[in-house]
Amino acid sequence: MRVPLFDTVSPVAPLRAELDAAIARVLDGGVYILGPEVAAFERELAAYLGVKHVVGVANGTDAITIALQALGVGPGDEVVVPSFTFYASAEAIPPTGATPVFCDVDPETMCVTAETVRPALTPRTRAVVAVDLFGNPAPIPEIAALGVPVVEDAAQAAGARLAERAAGSLGTLATFSFFPSKNLGCFGDGGAIATDDDALADAARVLRFHGSRDKLSYERIGWNSRLDELQAAILRVLLPHLDAWSDGRRAAAAHYADAGLGELVALPAATAGAIPAWHLFVVRHERASELERSLDAAGIGARGYYRTPLHRQAALAPWVPADLSLPATDALARTHLAIPINPLLDRAAADAVTVAIRAALAA
Ligand SMILES: *Cc1c(COP(=O)(O)O)cnc(C)c1O
Repeated sequence: MRVPLFDTVSPVAPLRAELDAAIARVLDGGVYILGPEVAAFERELAAYLGVKHVVGVANGTDAITIALQALGVGPGDEVVVPSFTFYASAEAIPPTGATPVFCDVDPETMCVTAETVRPALTPRTRAVVAVDLFGNPAPIPEIAALGVPVVEDAAQAAGARLAERAAGSLGTLATFSFFPSKNLGCFGDGGAIATDDDALADAARVLRFHGSRDKLSYERIGWNSRLDELQAAILRVLLPHLDAWSDGRRAAAAHYADAGLGELVALPAATAGAIPAWHLFVVRHERASELERSLDAAGIGARGYYRTPLHRQAALAPWVPADLSLPATDALARTHLAIPINPLLDRAAADAVTVAIRAALAA
């Protein structure tokens, strides 16, 4: 049995007629940028998250840059960000003029915590980018309690919850990506910023539109970064299914546990009080790279996404002090391995993956 790393086709297949109708509605309407679909999706996602404002932008990377600029982050400021995350979490910082400062993560949850952020704080810290990694919410309230604004990078965590609140409603602002493989993925690029703060939402709206309110006067240097009408119309069809898909991801995680996978590798640990929406199912093992190759050969999707953590990436070297030590990050970079997950992954697939891992480790 072959099991792919992810499956972005099967979950949306039953929605084809609805998707076709949504796309046709946009074509018939003839409005493609910042029209009724984006406005409606922004309202619907805000209601889902339980926040006052959602601002659609072009992708999840721009969402972080714009959220930071809305907060007033600029040259001379520092922004703390984990090194163990997707590159974009940190790449989004230098365009604001601020300096990324890399911090460690918790070795079990793989997320930033107050404890891992604290050593990176200085008088110049203006914000923390806290990543809800792999669909597991970071403990944002304890990080916010350090007294610094938090931009919650929820790109991987649509559908997750922490203590009764939706991931993406926890930070001063939160950011989403709708890249096709994310938990809520459109059919191209897309992103959003969520916040309860009227002034921050207003700043984000201006920033996504060339720093202008009316395309006549320009208040600041902004971006051309909009979610487009077609993607918004598609996301409006998908959003009502997010909770069921997240349940499916959690059921898949339970299938792995029931299959006995925890006897072979370390299973991912959720943040206390969290209901994760496993975007990736990332296990840990000392022989992760070798396991990756064996599983690949056996037709089981497996990938070490962050083998080179951000503080060891060439492009980010200018912002990395020579004496920086992030031991949990370096250990996870070596030992983590994403194995197949999707909302429909069943017990038979979990058994097949577990059998393949057992065989690979015995070899
Ligand atoms: C995908 C992702 C992003 C960037 O989103 P794009 O839409 O691809 O720009 C940012 N942060 C994290 C953690 C991501 O996984």
